[in-house]
Amino acid sequence: MPEFEFKLISRANKAEEARIISDIEDTIISTYRYYAITIDGETKGVVNSIETANTVIDEVKSDLLEGVELNIGMVEIFTTDKNIENIDETKNVLNGVKLAKTDAYKKEQEEKRKAAEEAKRKKAAARLAQTTTPGAVTGSLNGMSISRPVSAIMISSRFGSSGSRRSGHTGLDLACNTGAPITPISAGTVTFAGYKGSYGNLIIIDHGNGVQSYYAHCNSINVGVGQSVSTGTVIGGVGSTGNSTGPHLHLEIRVNGTPINPEGYLY
Ligand SMILES: [Zn+2]
Repeated sequence: MPEFEFKLISRANKAEEARIISDIEDTIISTYRYYAITIDGETKGVVNSIETANTVIDEVKSDLLEGVELNIGMVEIFTTDKNIENIDETKNVLNGVKLAKTDAYKKEQEEKRKAAEEAKRKKAAARLAQTTTPGAVTGSLNGMSISRPVSAIMISSRFGSSGSRRSGHTGLDLACNTGAPITPISAGTVTFAGYKGSYGNLIIIDHGNGVQSYYAHCNSINVGVGQSVSTGTVIGGVGSTGNSTGPHLHLEIRVNGTPINPEGYLY
């Protein structure tokens, strides 16, 4: 603060009051306090009071998307500049930064989602790529040799009740590409070839010895009822007909009418 002193002067030197005030103003320096609003430590605007600063910050943060980091702060500043408050401009700038950060966040999330999807797809493709030879004998049941019906070895759902299934799963689900050839697990005679409820397109083969096999959700059927088939016969193509969420073969093996777990005979 400057120091002032009162002095008596001659009446002849009487000065105008306005002149005295302007002289005083010329000799002092006024400093004003403001609040700078910052994002990531960088000043984005200036307001006069802490209350205004808080109001502006609250307003900008009010509809901030969860997950978006807005590192917003406030710094006390002192300056000789007068009337530098710019509330509207501050809000505009802050909202602009918020929008940019929100867009960047959304883009990042979308990229993460895409990468995860791609990784999942690659994993599934890699598993599908590990193919086996259909028709090769893998087991025996009631003295009858059993072969794999499709080349894929990815089991998408096992026999019995597991996971989200409330009732037991009566077969083995083998994930395949749509149209992948299906061959019978053993030689036999076709006893059904057509659409059947949740099975979708279904082929049933009777192998004798009380053994039957079901091939469900097919997208194509190449055989007819009464036809004799061997493990070299392509009886149909894998599909997703009936109650199915994606292309796969639902293989069911029934012994005297009761479904058994096919897994041990095939893999
Ligand atoms: Zn199934």
